[in-house]
Amino acid sequence: MTVLTALPKSAATSILDPLTDARSQLAEAIGLLGYEPGMFELLAKPRREITVSIPLRRDSGEIEVLTGHRVQHNFSRGPAKGGLRYSPEVSLDEVRALAMWMTWKCALLDVPYGGAKGGVQIDPSTYSMAELERVTRRYTSEISPLIGPEKDIPAPDIGTDERTMAWMMDTYSAQQGHTVLGVTTGKPLSLGGSLGRATATSRGVVHLALAALREIGIDPSRATAAVEGYGKVGRHAARFLSEAGVRVVAVSDQHGAVVATAGLDISALDAHVDACGTVAGFRMADSSDRSEILEMAVDLLVPAAIEGTINEQNAARIKARVIVEGANGPTTKEADVVLNRKNVLVVPDILANAGGVLVSYFEWVQANQAYWWNADDVEQRLAERMTHAWNAVCAKSAAMGVPLRTAATVIAVERVTLAHLQRGLYP
Ligand code: GLU
Repeated sequence: MTVLTALPKSAATSILDPLTDARSQLAEAIGLLGYEPGMFELLAKPRREITVSIPLRRDSGEIEVLTGHRVQHNFSRGPAKGGLRYSPEVSLDEVRALAMWMTWKCALLDVPYGGAKGGVQIDPSTYSMAELERVTRRYTSEISPLIGPEKDIPAPDIGTDERTMAWMMDTYSAQQGHTVLGVTTGKPLSLGGSLGRATATSRGVVHLALAALREIGIDPSRATAAVEGYGKVGRHAARFLSEAGVRVVAVSDQHGAVVATAGLDISALDAHVDACGTVAGFRMADSSDRSEILEMAVDLLVPAAIEGTINEQNAARIKARVIVEGANGPTTKEADVVLNRKNVLVVPDILANAGGVLVSYFEWVQANQAYWWNADDVEQRLAERMTHAWNAVCAKSAAMGVPLRTAATVIAVERVTLAHLQRGLYP
């Protein structure tokens, strides 16, 4: 699997504050539900968090010390669950926000998990494979008291992949003295991974993109789309959209953007990306500016890169009628207000990109049972549960007269709160 690991310094970095946004989404949901302020306090704070130093011997022989975090936002409904991100931009507050969104995502999809997230401050593109293996193993060892199939189950996120998950699983298993397949998800197929996991997030994104287009009366076979980010999520999403008949006219990654109004030839583009590591320079399209992709006149926009790329600086210029969030937190709070005013249908991250953690759950279930499903089982269950969640969020949104993000957060917060109330406070 090719993973594009170099991350851009976001143009929006200075105005990004995902934790403040995540907390204000929670505050809004608590207010709408009429819960006491103490419930906000309880859910705004992570349950547990750990910051670790990761000493690394570089291939050159020098020692370098990296920093890593693991945040378990909540585990009232089951083990904490969430990805591990390798990025130079990682901060504890960012990991806290991402962990909170995982709690809502798992509750919304009704999988028996809480939410967690991990991050190591590292640009993986500047380290050798052997160095990345040492970083991963040491990080795993440092956080090992907190993780386990019944405690906290990491998975891939930006900058990590199935190889990272195999190293984590191996390190944890070596410490336990036996193989523990259920400690990570997103593993290689040969090591207890699930069929369909690698493409699950994108599958889910596309299921909901098609549903959202139909919801506002656009026939997908007449629709146009732009995809921001051509990594693990955006790349497969572009392919599935195009297979579904949507004309994908523009895509971008951290190095550049390409546009073809007649529709991009996705197979040719994938061959180019495999050879060059970027969409930039693809001959069968015009090159464009990365920021322009977000503002193109298309029916559907799929932001599938990092947080905050849709923000107060560009929200007013967005022309898409539907936004389906493949990334976590791509739309800032301020941008959300503008988009709602413009009547753009925004399918929020905790719903739109939940296919990944859903199939992570399937992988964990299969590992725990040592019984493996076929690809059709996975696809069918993914489609069923995404559709079910979509219908529930649409119904809640209509009933409460609120945007989909608010409705999704309300459903999730309601479920997590119920678990807290039924368990009671200890002591
Ligand atoms: N990193 C993915 C997410 O943000 C997947 C998490 C998981 O599978 O646990 O949803």
